[in-house]
Amino acid sequence: MIPYGRQSLDDDDINAVVDTLKSDFLTQGSKIPAFELAIANYVTANHAVALSSATAALHIACLALELSETDIAWTVPLTFVASANAIRYCGATIDFVDINLDTGCICIDALAKKLQEAKESEKLPKLLIVVHYSGISCDMKAIAELCHPYQIKIIEDASHAIGGSYKNKPVGCCEYSDCTIFSFHPVKIITSGEGGMITTNNAPLAEKCQLLRSHGIHKNIKSMCNKNPEPWFYEQQSLGFNYRMSDIHAALGLSQLRKLKTSVHIRNQQAQQYKDALAHLPVKLLQVPERTYSSWHLFVIRIDPNQAINRSKLYQLLIDAGIGCQVHYIPVHTHPYYQELGFAWGDFPIAEQFYQNCISIPIFPALKKQQFVIKTLCDLL
Ligand SMILES: *Cc1c(COP(=O)(O)O)cnc(C)c1O
Repeated sequence: MIPYGRQSLDDDDINAVVDTLKSDFLTQGSKIPAFELAIANYVTANHAVALSSATAALHIACLALELSETDIAWTVPLTFVASANAIRYCGATIDFVDINLDTGCICIDALAKKLQEAKESEKLPKLLIVVHYSGISCDMKAIAELCHPYQIKIIEDASHAIGGSYKNKPVGCCEYSDCTIFSFHPVKIITSGEGGMITTNNAPLAEKCQLLRSHGIHKNIKSMCNKNPEPWFYEQQSLGFNYRMSDIHAALGLSQLRKLKTSVHIRNQQAQQYKDALAHLPVKLLQVPERTYSSWHLFVIRIDPNQAINRSKLYQLLIDAGIGCQVHYIPVHTHPYYQELGFAWGDFPIAEQFYQNCISIPIFPALKKQQFVIKTLCDLL
């Protein structure tokens, strides 16, 4: 079975991990700051904080931005559940903003309308998590302009989008947001096995994230309440977690980062091949806006629902042909947990329409059989 996405590891990656295994530190060593610095430099952000996953990163980012039970936060329904769950971990009230059918990203008009309504009903959110669906950056400038008058904090969930850019700047530079989250799960653009990262230009925010990832413990004398500490002393000042990345993971991530640019370039070539070859088929493809460079984590096609072969049939036929595919995503608000909170089918019609017709086909640098995928799709449709 050809997977829809897969990691690409080479001997350098394996050697980097082996070297770390032979070193003195498997965790809390030098690979973590090295990986953080390399990511910060790559995306041109001032700070980067490595975490055990993007899910942990989203949780910590919400906490560091002081999201609590008395707050409201918004995200989009067309995402992996982790983007929404982070809001719930903080006990905040969640709501969603519908998406744009052409990009799969947050709909700017829907956001403007919802903000106006929220202002009138005095239910403005404290925080908004936007998702760069499939690798396409959201229109961050427009989002920031809409959120700015209400001081709404903005988190970019860029789990799909490392290596992409928006208005000639790398995704993760945080020009229009408080922070950006990346995922290094093996199905994403580069991997550390499991892992995540927060990038930000806000030094106090970065420091809060560092504390929260390691139990809320201070080891720096300057920031301790005890002004005369013994040499072994440390202080827990807030309720943190163990959300640390290990050095083994960081060594892999650091090695993978060297291949990020090439990897995203290959994904763009593969996307172009699909675009050319599928143009005559009754399918709709994602539209990458101007001055946006997608990292093409996913290649999503939307099937005309009036076709004899609809999405469900196509899914089964592709699987039967040995072509792994997936549906991204079941709208978050329709999961039983979120229905329990009061959401229902029909609440976010564009995301639901997108879900009904979408299917993600294989795209990843090590994909050898793209021509076979194309031929199969052409034959079936
Ligand atoms: C994969 C993903 C996550 C979670 O990433 P982990 O590193 O597996 O925790 C969060 N948000 C989106 C949009 C994702 O695709």
